[in-house]
Amino acid sequence: VKHLKEFKISFSGLSLGKHDFSFEIDKNFFDCFEYSIVKDGDLKVDVELDKKSNMMIANFEIYGDLSLNCDVCLEQFDMPIDINEQLIIKFQGNQEDEEIDVDEIMVLPRQEHEFSIADFLYEHITLAVPHYIKCEELNEDRSCNSEMKAALEKLSPNTAEVEEKEQIDPRWEALKKLNRNN
Ligand SMILES: [Zn+2]
Repeated sequence: VKHLKEFKISFSGLSLGKHDFSFEIDKNFFDCFEYSIVKDGDLKVDVELDKKSNMMIANFEIYGDLSLNCDVCLEQFDMPIDINEQLIIKFQGNQEDEEIDVDEIMVLPRQEHEFSIADFLYEHITLAVPHYIKCEELNEDRSCNSEMKAALEKLSPNTAEVEEKEQIDPRWEALKKLNRNN
């Protein structure tokens, strides 16, 4: 996807030592991932790349707001995140590396001169989003929209109420008797 081409670090011309990069993530980024649970956000990514003679270490800080929809009150809200992650970049050829199968290690072909961080960023941002999104737990400045919550609860009566109705309704009693007779 075109937009993701921006999320690359070109390292071949860099001297050994530390180098800083920064990236910005917004709606265009999430639009590139068809099934993303996050649709929008406003994030910054700082990367400190430590280039060594046979490998590289990239330290990431991903911070800002994700725009999410609350599962309880359905309102859109900002979830602040601040993620620190490390990625180790190695090169093919060393036998010990071939056996490594860990997310946090990227193995590049020898002749490669750049690497993409788009998938790495997407994965770690997605992991920060809980399975059940409740706005007031994810943003301390929020409380769930209680009117909406009450309205939604009315639309879906809980099972206790249904059972109560069954007991009261004479038609249910009649049906139950029929069943027993069978
Ligand atoms: Zn809410």
